[in-house]
Amino acid sequence: MSIKDNLIKIKNQLPQNVQLVAVSKFHSVEEIEEAVKAGQNIFGENRVQEAAQKFDLIKKSYPNVKLRIIGQLQRNKAKEAVRIADAIDSVDRIELLDEIEKQAAKLDKNIQVLFEYHTGEDSKSGFVDKELIFQALQKKAQGDYPHIEPKGFMTMAPFSDDQDLVRSSFKKLKSLRDECQGKFKQFDLSELSMGMSGDWQIAIQEGSTMVRIGTAIFGQRDYSKGKN
Ligand SMILES: *Cc1c(COP(=O)(O)O)cnc(C)c1O
Repeated sequence: MSIKDNLIKIKNQLPQNVQLVAVSKFHSVEEIEEAVKAGQNIFGENRVQEAAQKFDLIKKSYPNVKLRIIGQLQRNKAKEAVRIADAIDSVDRIELLDEIEKQAAKLDKNIQVLFEYHTGEDSKSGFVDKELIFQALQKKAQGDYPHIEPKGFMTMAPFSDDQDLVRSSFKKLKSLRDECQGKFKQFDLSELSMGMSGDWQIAIQEGSTMVRIGTAIFGQRDYSKGKN
């Protein structure tokens, strides 16, 4: 099946209110273009340097394309991430938020963020302590982050055949969202980025508003192409 066929098949199964992020890491500019021509305009990448190389080109030809950074972000990559991305979905510590604000202020650019929350045993990334997410939102409420717009939350479920385990991870994210939204009514924290190629149907049952799908659109990633 072609990228276009895969996209059509997935989109036909997604509820209207669920956005599709096409995760294009390790895939080429040509493959991304194929997806854009098939009507896809939101992409996710997890490595900033690779994303910048590809999306500087893509965005030149297709200015409506949106890029979301979904991978763990080192502080020294925040500047480039803010420059190239429309949203950073993998904010996992307050120091990173501070750095994103600093860089966004320099560029005079507003950027959306999601807080990544650690909900499953095998994933290494995300806030472990939800109190720190409350603290981050409190800082925003006090005016600390004028260039940052918090929009919601992201998680990765464990890679497991145990559907209950996967489901409980998504439930944890939704319950965190409800708690934060209750505490911070002045923000719209409705976005729940959860669900990947192997588990997006469960994520949607649990309230996902945004699925991040790579393999089911672009096929297997060729990791031998190396890391940037
Ligand atoms: C790679 C990646 C995805 C997509 O994974 P697939 O299983 O290929 O759909 C989604 N989210 C994150 C954070 C990723 O790194």
